[in-house]
Amino acid sequence: MNIILLGPPGAGKGTQAKLISEKYSIPHISTGDIFRKNISEKTPLGVKAKEYMDKGQLVPDELTIDLVKDRLQSDDCKKGFLLDGFPRTVKQAEALDEFLKSNNSQIDFALLIEVPNEFILDRMTGRRVCQSCGGSYHIKFNPPKEESKCDICGGILIQRKDDKEETVKERLNVYEKQTQPLVDYYNEKNALCKVNGTETIDNVFKDICNILGSDK
Ligand code: ADP
Ligand code: AMP
Repeated sequence: MNIILLGPPGAGKGTQAKLISEKYSIPHISTGDIFRKNISEKTPLGVKAKEYMDKGQLVPDELTIDLVKDRLQSDDCKKGFLLDGFPRTVKQAEALDEFLKSNNSQIDFALLIEVPNEFILDRMTGRRVCQSCGGSYHIKFNPPKEESKCDICGGILIQRKDDKEETVKERLNVYEKQTQPLVDYYNEKNALCKVNGTETIDNVFKDICNILGSDK
């Protein structure tokens, strides 16, 4: 089962991706996580990506597309994959389709997590992420058991630099201009399924499981 997650920043894609990946035993591939790992390791890709990410802009397609194609060729993607944060532009979506087609494959579900803008600022400014494993929490809506400590690995929880209010606004603009067109793109391919992302984390996950069914 090949799945992509669509939705504005802060919609809950990473949160749901962890749950889906566990239940359906498919790898969770987050381009944001891959870039953040490169930034923390100070690789050449990380240095370039940081320039854009800190401003709330998208990393250029040339740096993003090949990275995902490489990742999708790993053995663990043979039974399916879950892309979180990719594609984010029509060019990325077309490149992904072309790549999958050449491997006799396709996107089975484009899950759109719908959350109106008025929820987003609260969600993102309250988000805390584990600097070791990337686990995502919220100080109000999904707090860790122990303050500032990851439930999964015990790592330290920090606020992402791009979750500050000014950057969040820019990221929402970027989403509307560059990523929202993908909703029509996947609708035309009959792959689009919408879920109401304003429900609780558990209820959003239930809706997603109803869409995906019991397939593996
Ligand atoms: P995305 O990956 O789409 O940017 P996240 O999954 O990181 O979003 O979620 C953004 C923030 O909102 C996190 O702090 C997360 O804990 C919280 N969150 C996720 N889903 C919900 C929900 N359904 N209700 C309330 N808060 C949520
Ligand atoms: P995310 O973790 O998905 O919220 O992504 C954080 C940031 O990483 C984005 O604001 C972009 O700067 C960058 N990024 C992640 N995925 C992509 C992508 N597919 N294309 C371009 N930039 C991306």
